[in-house]
Amino acid sequence: MDWSEFPKHGRAVADWAAEYHATLRDRPVRAPLTPGATLARLPDAPPEAAEPVEDILRDFHEIVMPGLTHWQHPRFFAYFPANAAPASVLAEYLVATVAPQCMLWQTSPAATEMETRMMGWLAQAVGLPDAFHGVIQDSASSATLAAVLTMRERALDWAGNTEGLSGAPRLRIYCSGEVHSSIDRAIWIAGIGSANLVRLPVTGPRRAMDTAALARAIADDRAAGHLPAGIVACTGATGMGASDDLAAVAEVARAEGLYLHVDAAWAGAAMICPEFRELWAGVEQADSVVFNPHKWLGAQFDCSAHFLRDPAALTRTLAIRPEYLRTQGADGVVDYSEWSIPLGRRFRALKLWFLLRAEGLEGLRAMIRDHVAWSRGLAERLRETPGFEIVTEPVLSLFTFRHAPPGADADAATERLLATINDEGRIYLTRTVIDGRPVIRFQAGSVFTTAADMDAAYDAITATAERLRQED
Ligand code: PLP
Repeated sequence: MDWSEFPKHGRAVADWAAEYHATLRDRPVRAPLTPGATLARLPDAPPEAAEPVEDILRDFHEIVMPGLTHWQHPRFFAYFPANAAPASVLAEYLVATVAPQCMLWQTSPAATEMETRMMGWLAQAVGLPDAFHGVIQDSASSATLAAVLTMRERALDWAGNTEGLSGAPRLRIYCSGEVHSSIDRAIWIAGIGSANLVRLPVTGPRRAMDTAALARAIADDRAAGHLPAGIVACTGATGMGASDDLAAVAEVARAEGLYLHVDAAWAGAAMICPEFRELWAGVEQADSVVFNPHKWLGAQFDCSAHFLRDPAALTRTLAIRPEYLRTQGADGVVDYSEWSIPLGRRFRALKLWFLLRAEGLEGLRAMIRDHVAWSRGLAERLRETPGFEIVTEPVLSLFTFRHAPPGADADAATERLLATINDEGRIYLTRTVIDGRPVIRFQAGSVFTTAADMDAAYDAITATAERLRQED
């Protein structure tokens, strides 16, 4: 295929994209789960001869589309959202066409400067003070890994990268039991070892880290000759939205001289609404914060906003300048590849620019406020419906519930209801375990969800429960 053919196929894809979104709500949310179904339709060997693009596009529709779960479906209530507002898709189209590799300022100055400006816009949008500097990472996992590596190097007086960890005391990192598994991974990859991730108990309805236990654990570790290095706190953790009291955690971090990283991967987007900022009160005292515009805000995956109080600590940890990367005549510029783990960088800031301009902060706030209000409304309706229990109250747009019909085993009933709902495909929900018992998670976050979709969710949940009851 050459570029002369591109307009024809590009137009066909653009037409299909609009049609896809116009008909999205008529599709099942989750792909039917038949292991091997797609693999069986893909040839074992690559083609020797070029094939017409028409054939490739036809196979995309016939072979690939039936096996995709529709994350932007208006009735996708599983996990957390992964939105792609149309303006951000357009930006990705442009980026894919020019395909700039933005590792250094010099390799695409506009991309670097756009990233600086967009991170400044986002910091203002979520109410972070000017002291924070931002960088776009591919994922929250990468931002957290970068933070953990910084904790490690800072605690070891910057000797870990050169000396390794074998002669060092045990480094200790602290978090609650509610944090995302990306924290465990970061600990593994940083060579700290999961035995040195100290999980503290949680307290209260927010399931916040017990900061008295945190202070005791740090003191015990110091007494045992270990080396406390940092704390990972969470705002809106994945299971049920657990949120630490950041001001209290920061007080301990400051008293102990520890680095504090805040994972707000999902909830951070909601901080564009001032009335929700109480959830991360104290965040301005953190050393770094991450949230994902690719989750709730509408930026095409991937796009993770990583804010740092002191980027020099991060670049001291990650920057490496072999001769072939040295640039000339560009003093005082930022090379964002020194702020992240991969060298190569996509031009992610463009989709933020398109998104923020096309929707405006007010448009995005309205969407998030709707999701939060609708989720609260649904939680109330379920609470009043016999056979349902709200297990954790809505944190923004996330709550958990259980199906507990009279006389039935509530755990089994909950698991069965979830599996049946998902097999039916009208809505898509996921599960977690709270205090040892299964619960169903509900979160609203699709750019395209409407109040009617929330009614459909209530109907799907309650009608399925009723049908199962009659079957018994
Ligand atoms: N932190 C939290 C609270 C999450 O919910 C998730 C993913 O859902 C992550 C981190 C990981 O995000 P990413 O996929 O961007 O690495």
